[in-house]
Amino acid sequence: MSSWTVLVIPKRLLGYVFLFFALIVVLAVVSKHPLGVYTINLVSQDVIYDIMLDPGHGGIDPGAIGAGEIYEKHYVLDIVRQMAEILEAHGLKVGLTRDTDRDVSHLVTEGTRHRRDLLGRYKLMNQAKLGMSVHANAAKDPDESGAIVFYMKDKYIDEIYAKVVLEELEKVQVLNEPRPLPRTTLLLPKAKPPVLLVEVGFMSNASDLRKLGDPQFRTNVAHALCNGILRFISWRDGEQSEVSPGAE
Ligand SMILES: [Zn+2]
Repeated sequence: MSSWTVLVIPKRLLGYVFLFFALIVVLAVVSKHPLGVYTINLVSQDVIYDIMLDPGHGGIDPGAIGAGEIYEKHYVLDIVRQMAEILEAHGLKVGLTRDTDRDVSHLVTEGTRHRRDLLGRYKLMNQAKLGMSVHANAAKDPDESGAIVFYMKDKYIDEIYAKVVLEELEKVQVLNEPRPLPRTTLLLPKAKPPVLLVEVGFMSNASDLRKLGDPQFRTNVAHALCNGILRFISWRDGEQSEVSPGAE
């Protein structure tokens, strides 16, 4: 006798149960309703990528704006595109939440644009074993400068990931915070794999803005972030890894 006997549903309810699942499928497939999409995601959790890279903002959302109408969304996209090339050269399967000047809100149909955009990014993050969201900051105080790495609070593995990435980032950029900062907000709590949110500098700070405008600085940041990612993967995968730490 199979264990399914425990789950036997009274005949008169069978129709309702069938209707319930049919509704979810319709919601997911036809209208791409978040509820349906979430439920389908619970059933099929296909992890396709080694890492998902997320350049913040895009499209009508410029992100932080520096003096002279300079947008965060352009700089972070440039950094992430370079990161994708570096990591692919190391044999990793890399996904990008966007690779052009657009947001990700089209992946979800319900809610405000901001919420759809966030949920879209989270949905993509969950298709990878690891994630990184790259941003540039802004603050009221123009003296505020340097890099910050956020990780999901109380997650040991995420904290190690954050520390390694911060260590590498420190080689190319001053730090705003000497240690990674735990958070329970942003993109982090909704993502299943370890995901970091990295602020590479402040658009509101003259020195950081000058750096971010320099293509060589953006290349240095891309390499530093990749070195951190590769070191973390190497640690996580132990001896089996083909990736050597500190690779260029
Ligand atoms: Zn941002």
